Amino acid sequence: MKKKKKADKTKQYSLWDNCRYALRQLRQKEGDIGMAVCGGDVALGVLLPFLEAALAGAVAAILTSGRRPEAILLLVAGYVVLLQTVRFLQGHLRNLRFKTLFLLRIDMGMDFFRKTVWMDGQSLESAQGQKKRKDAGRNLYSGNGQGIEAYTKAWCDLVMQLIGLVLYGAIVGQVSLILLAILVLQTLLVSYLHTKAGKRAYAMEDEIEKKWGIFQYLRRETVIPGNGKDIRMYRMDKWFLGMFHGLIDRVCALIDRQQTGYMAAGMAEDLLTFARSMVVYGWLVREMAAGNMTIPSFLLYVGIVAGFGAWMNGLFGAWRQILENEKLMDDYRDFMDFGVVEEGRQAPGRPGRTHEIRFEHVCFRYEGSGEDTIQDLNLTIRPGERLALVGPNGAGKTTLIKLLCGLYRPTSGTVYLDGRDIQSLDQRAVFREFAVVFQDVFAFSFPLSDNVSCVDCGREDSERLRGSLEKAGLWERVQALPKGARTFMNKDLDEAGVTLSGGEVQKLMLARALYKDAPMVILDEPTAALDPIAESEMYERYDELVHGRTAVFISHRLSSTRFCDRILFLENGRITEEGTHGELMQRGGAYAELFSIQARYYKEQKTECAATL
Ligand code: ADP
Repeated sequence: MKKKKKADKTKQYSLWDNCRYALRQLRQKEGDIGMAVCGGDVALGVLLPFLEAALAGAVAAILTSGRRPEAILLLVAGYVVLLQTVRFLQGHLRNLRFKTLFLLRIDMGMDFFRKTVWMDGQSLESAQGQKKRKDAGRNLYSGNGQGIEAYTKAWCDLVMQLIGLVLYGAIVGQVSLILLAILVLQTLLVSYLHTKAGKRAYAMEDEIEKKWGIFQYLRRETVIPGNGKDIRMYRMDKWFLGMFHGLIDRVCALIDRQQTGYMAAGMAEDLLTFARSMVVYGWLVREMAAGNMTIPSFLLYVGIVAGFGAWMNGLFGAWRQILENEKLMDDYRDFMDFGVVEEGRQAPGRPGRTHEIRFEHVCFRYEGSGEDTIQDLNLTIRPGERLALVGPNGAGKTTLIKLLCGLYRPTSGTVYLDGRDIQSLDQRAVFREFAVVFQDVFAFSFPLSDNVSCVDCGREDSERLRGSLEKAGLWERVQALPKGARTFMNKDLDEAGVTLSGGEVQKLMLARALYKDAPMVILDEPTAALDPIAESEMYERYDELVHGRTAVFISHRLSSTRFCDRILFLENGRITEEGTHGELMQRGGAYAELFSIQARYYKEQKTECAATL
């Protein structure tokens, strides 16, 4: 594949390469029929204007041919029938082309979706990945007039306009090369003016997009029901409105400047077309008056001259469209080529069984960060082991588990799964081995059962669903819901949907992890949103929850780590202490100190509660 490198080293694809890519996509997604529809539309798109332009001349030629009236009538009627048939077919093909290109955009949207959900999480999460994904989306979701749909249409139009132009140019050239030169010059001038206006407008597009992005973000934030109370409480309405006004004013000013540029180009075009018509038609009239041209020829040339400008304008219009959409195509392809390619990788051995995980001199640094979040970490987690990971906020616990299950690639060092570099394995197969409850829990606005089983409603294993919900302590609540496990979460897709509390959503996520029944379970602060009773219930059931699995448990509540085989105390991305609860307490280090503070705090709290009662 031929690719040019930009200064910032992001890939840029050549124009020809993008054209071939669009056609390849068209053939792959819409098949030979899609190609035939576009090809047919090009052919009829040339034929119809020609038949229309030649109509007056043809009728005049028939009338002055000296034939019998019936023959004349038959010939004129034949011409009109032919014209109408082509017009009908062309209208139909135009609709089909619209549908074909629309479907092409939608089908490519599926590729985009697949890429987004299957590319490696680290690349997607990075600032670069986020920007690339957003830019690529513009190629698909900017409507019919921008992006892949408009781009492919523009290439079809370009071919059509080019054929039309060569045909008309040949006809005009036969009459006079000077006439042809005048027509070409006028259209080139018009096109130059439009291109200049288009370039100026395009230069402003980035700023408009940026401001619009901020506007959309603010708009979304104001309509989130949970945000309403903060906005009211802290009188942020004025701040929001001020921001809205500022952004709208700036966007309007930019759009105004764009439109002024287009208007000026449009006025210049009108003037030039007027001047051209005066010269060209004047010349034709003079030729006819001088007897150098018959009336049918005159009429034919008038039609052809009028049509020539349209072809030329159409050609430049299509070219402009191609250039305007080039960046969107580049951005789309850049994203589709971005991230780690997974093809041909092996799955981990012994699927469904507990695995050994080993960190060897692992360092990890977030993009743009000045220091490593995980620093030269060495660790072995034995199959079936129950590990607790504790430490202050920001110590790197969550980062460590993302490395552990292969979501992040180490900056240096290696994470091994059963002795094989986890990054060299098929990521989907690796993910099958892990059930993780992350800290930032949320439920999709689908039925509760979909959220747990991750399959369509009705296809889940109902026994397994019930078992998971029971173990997670949510079964009673689910039973009380109007449609049980079929009840929709939130109100986005169903007004009768239910909004669960933070603790309930946390239990729901736990149920999902249990339903998955993976051999490796990772729970990142699984009790953070639970009340003390639910929390203690969960600790009591911990044995049952992780039975037969390797389990990593992250918690702030140090007392909760006692049921683990080993506790790791993490500070500044390093394991500073390691052992059982008893060993760490005996050692009297940071863990023991933190544990004593927590124990004192809870003791005080308990005394206060008792006094109040
Ligand atoms: P813990 O789970 O121990 O609270 P984390 O692993 O979440 O800690 O975070 C460790 C450090 O990495 C923190 O300083 C945090 O700000 C930083 N960090 C976490 N996620 C990102 C990210 N996506 N980009 C940049 N820095 C991050």
